[in-house]
Amino acid sequence: MRHVYVHVPFCARRCSYCDFSIAVRKRIPAREYVDAVLQELRFLGMTDPGREPGDAKDGLETIYFGGGTPSLLPPDALVTLLTSLRDAFPATSFRDDVEVTLEANPEDVTPDAATSWRRAGVNRVSHDAARIAAAVRTLRDAGIDNISLDLIFALPADLGRDWARDLDQALALRPAHLSVYGLTVEERTPLARWISRGAAAAPTDDLYADEYLLAHSRLGACGYQFYEVSNAARDGRRSRHNSAYWSGRSYGGLGPAAHSFDGAVRRWNISAWEAYRRAVAAGRSPVASQEVLTDEQRELERVYLAMRTDAGLPVAALCRPLPPSAARWLERGWAEVRNQRLVCAPEGWLRLDALVRDLTGCGITG
Ligand code: SF4
Repeated sequence: MRHVYVHVPFCARRCSYCDFSIAVRKRIPAREYVDAVLQELRFLGMTDPGREPGDAKDGLETIYFGGGTPSLLPPDALVTLLTSLRDAFPATSFRDDVEVTLEANPEDVTPDAATSWRRAGVNRVSHDAARIAAAVRTLRDAGIDNISLDLIFALPADLGRDWARDLDQALALRPAHLSVYGLTVEERTPLARWISRGAAAAPTDDLYADEYLLAHSRLGACGYQFYEVSNAARDGRRSRHNSAYWSGRSYGGLGPAAHSFDGAVRRWNISAWEAYRRAVAAGRSPVASQEVLTDEQRELERVYLAMRTDAGLPVAALCRPLPPSAARWLERGWAEVRNQRLVCAPEGWLRLDALVRDLTGCGITG
């Protein structure tokens, strides 16, 4: 296992658009959480002292603390988790080339916290809220320069959001990486309720497309390359952790709601924090369910993941001639052939599901 995701489910409050599995807590039960995750780690046998030394010979390439709000964890809890993961992978030392990402709320970025994260081994931080500029400065002062900003577009017009201005403000900070996610209105969120009673207008498809394409042109002009439908990097500083997901590599997940994948079977943990904690405390597996992908599902997923990224698919793998539905993508400029590979243009990424349907309908061969 070279890639580990650790889900930290706690948030101080629930955002209006969020339907993630989170636990809203005024006080973060850090000790209980760390105990539970370490128990799961032991349960998985990652720390089994009888394990053959060669099991971890390839070492750990990336660790990603996602949430929730991982920056709410006290630094010593992060140190304990990272130390335990290091012990679980004896062939790996936490050199600079091991990518350790922490999703952080800028409000949690204090000079002390940033220094502690750096000392704990965190070398990449991902942000998603206001007050970003001060947080970016604080992190750089603490020696963390691999910074990713998350921006959400297609917000309801009532909010008076100026997307071009927000993009320019983010770009002025010269982060190594930017993620842009289109807002989707999830059922059972406060935002969905506001929209259903007319207190807010639902975002339109036109707004979604206009803002997505504007992000491409502004980021492209500033030297960022979209290497995935929602992610852009400059100077090659792609997220190695997320790239592992998109290239279909196996990964392990720890914590409530965390997913794992071994190339054929996808498993996911119990999502509610208390139920997860009780399961691991009782020595039971926290796995809630799993699915074994059929050959057809794996093929569909392979095509979908490939077309999400700028790697695309080898032209040689496509049936010839392309069926009219897929050929139209090339005519309209929604996809293009680059270095013998079919890759999406920004307009194609806006229609990714339809493109994958057309391609899988044409019988890709390899
Ligand atoms: S901080 Fe993130 S995970 Fe927590 S409620 Fe807001 S959007 Fe959801």
